[in-house]
Amino acid sequence: MDTRDDLLRQGHYACPGCGLAIAMKLVLSALGERTIVVIIPSCEAVISATYPFSALKVPAFHSAFVIAAPTAAGISRALKVRGEDDITVLAFAGDGGTYDIGLQSLSGAAERNEDFIYVCLDNEAYMNTGIQASSSTPFCSWTVTTPKGKKERKKRLMDIIVAHSIPYCATATIGYPEDLIEKVKRAKKKKGTRFIHILTPCPTGWRMREDLTGIVSMLAFETKIFPLYEVYDGEIYRITKMPKGLPVKEYLSLQGRFSHLKEEEIEEIQKNVDKEWARLLYLAKRNAENCA
Ligand code: SF4
Repeated sequence: MDTRDDLLRQGHYACPGCGLAIAMKLVLSALGERTIVVIIPSCEAVISATYPFSALKVPAFHSAFVIAAPTAAGISRALKVRGEDDITVLAFAGDGGTYDIGLQSLSGAAERNEDFIYVCLDNEAYMNTGIQASSSTPFCSWTVTTPKGKKERKKRLMDIIVAHSIPYCATATIGYPEDLIEKVKRAKKKKGTRFIHILTPCPTGWRMREDLTGIVSMLAFETKIFPLYEVYDGEIYRITKMPKGLPVKEYLSLQGRFSHLKEEEIEEIQKNVDKEWARLLYLAKRNAENCA
């Protein structure tokens, strides 16, 4: 990728191999300079701006943890009053700020179909404050608050957002940057609330080598743990890429957060993944032509 036009400058504060920083760079490159970003407390806040510096080449508004979506909605409405229709308003939030703390205000904004793009940068725990579990943390995963492995399954966030019947929802991962960029560009062309859920591996919290970020992102997809799909108007599902269906063990074994797993737990994870995949296929096959 040509980095001359990066809207996220070099020299920011992300850990080496941070998937979140890569995702921010890709999203911003797809949206271009006419973008205003809303940031809430999270790793992306540290990466993008530690006072008095800023790594972003676009205007950014730092808001409270709970209100990424309504802040973006307010900026979007203010721009319309000023007649500035060519600026994209983008909210960046982590899984904590989306799955847990910001879910209520995101739901309200989505219900009103406010005009902005919301990107959930999902590293599956509260990494910024010391790796505590969020409701995005996967079943059996180690965190400092789930030292023996999390007992609950990861919340089905996409289903909740899709239930608002907003114009566009999609999943993406940095392991497939072209797919990610295409989805962001597709979202940009639409009006109303658009939601993109991006899996962003975190070498620090996932206890893995920092050069594995890309490979682990790809394996999350190839094992069907993180399928790539879109949903239009809360109804039309489209699987954008077909995974190979590799065993989940190939993904789990590269990450220290799963190193304590017993065979029966791996089998249970595999069973859950197969079930979720069958459900997604069923939803997509209702629109057969939408299966890639
Ligand atoms: S803790 Fe994880 S998400 Fe946060 S900057 Fe480091 S690698 Fe990125």
